[in-house]
Amino acid sequence: RTMTKVAVVTGSNKGIGLAIVRALCKQFEGDVFITARNTGRGEDAVKTLNSEGLQPKFQQLDINDLSSITQAAAFFKATYGGVDILVNNAGIAFKVADTTPFEVQAEVTLETNFFATRDMLTHFMPLMNPGGRVVNVSSFVGSRTLNKCSTDLQARFRSEDITEDELVGLMKRFVEKVKAGQHKEDGWPETAYGVSKTGLTTLSMILARRLSKERPHDNILLNACCPGWVRTDMAGDKAPKSPDEGAITPVYLALLPPGASQPHGCFVSDKEVQPW
Ligand code: NDP
Repeated sequence: RTMTKVAVVTGSNKGIGLAIVRALCKQFEGDVFITARNTGRGEDAVKTLNSEGLQPKFQQLDINDLSSITQAAAFFKATYGGVDILVNNAGIAFKVADTTPFEVQAEVTLETNFFATRDMLTHFMPLMNPGGRVVNVSSFVGSRTLNKCSTDLQARFRSEDITEDELVGLMKRFVEKVKAGQHKEDGWPETAYGVSKTGLTTLSMILARRLSKERPHDNILLNACCPGWVRTDMAGDKAPKSPDEGAITPVYLALLPPGASQPHGCFVSDKEVQPW
């Protein structure tokens, strides 16, 4: 086992994730891993950064595949003894023009953006070293969606005492109510992507509170963030920010200096804590 520090970025074969790896290769003293569900696309991304003079490493990691998550976790534990930076960036969004039925979009979107990211956190949080940094790439759409939920739902998402189990129940309830055609009566807006990110930001706040309680002396900081509106395959070519610009806030949170105590459990955009 090596004493080298290690950073892991999910969904980093392209888009904002690849730009986060590029910036970490330049700024982080340690090994930086491109991870991807598809090994060929991941290895191509490694070559792209190699051609820029950077030396990322690669590990296969499909967040929708529990055995892929546990194999990756075991690899980082065995090789590095833990993880110093984890950026949960992998995510999906159906295009506006996509005609896939809304109940399918709801199930598939929540499965990746919320439930699979939660599986990552379940298996990687125990690996986080003291001084570690966890960044969950959420979205301003999650905040906008929160504000469109019923007042009862808003109160639960914002409450300091919401548990992970209660949040998981709410995310499952959204999918069930969409399938039953009753999500509007039940207080939910018409956006699966938005609800998945409302859930991810809320989960980040829950896990940050748990860290403060259970590992108060380990100085691990965990935050959710929005990268801004970024030109990628997801958002299209009309977005104002380049992927490297989109990486700025996630990388700022990943590199919060040793001894920093803030931000923690926040939703951050343009390096500023946002209201929730
Ligand atoms: P891209 O579609 O360009 O990239 C998404 C990445 O996630 C790809 O590498 C994709 O891999 C990967 N991915 C998807 N599903 C999985 C999975 N199951 N396991 C592992 N990797 C997976 O999107 P962006 O770079 O734009 O988005 C990155 C993050 O930023 C997302 O969480 C998104 O919601 C968020 N975001 C983006 C904004 C924007 O304007 N672009 C705005 C706000 C938030 P593959 O190539 O195999 O599909």
